[in-house]
Amino acid sequence: SERTFIAVKPDGVQRGLVGDIIARFEKRGYKLVGLKMVTPTKEKAAEHYQDLSSKPFFGGLVDFFSSGPIVCMCWEGLDVVKQGRQMMGETQPLASKPGSIRGDFSIDLGRNIIHGSDSVESAERELAMWFPEGVNE
Ligand code: ATP
Ligand code: MG
Repeated sequence: SERTFIAVKPDGVQRGLVGDIIARFEKRGYKLVGLKMVTPTKEKAAEHYQDLSSKPFFGGLVDFFSSGPIVCMCWEGLDVVKQGRQMMGETQPLASKPGSIRGDFSIDLGRNIIHGSDSVESAERELAMWFPEGVNE
């Protein structure tokens, strides 16, 4: 069934939000099939966000994403790419509804706690990058 790549960003790890985020996906009914903590290199961060390389905030985004450990996850289940994005909230935390992860935990666009793949194609690319060894069944 469908899989997505979710990462708790360095701010979320530092603030101790990993457990809450995992619990939300588990309680919703999704299955955790991949999990690891890594500190991304700048190169890996830039590759991850390659679609945004022309944006003025790209340098800051890469610096932030590589500033400390992130928790990489692969979640599996029905419609998980789209549903995961809904659980996250909007890119802009101030536009995110209470009850969403960003709406509950953040106010800063550049420190918005969590990443999630934005399409099935992005999920495949990102999972190949962060879990080249593969994930569990
Ligand atoms: P992510 O890919 O991290 O899950 P997203 O898909 O909601 O976030 P993207 O458009 O992919 O949003 O942007 C990636 C990240 O870049 C955002 O999460 C945000 O932290 C940052 N970002 C996006 N737009 C801006 C902006 N205008 N100014 C500063 N930072 C931004
Ligand atoms: Mg994105």
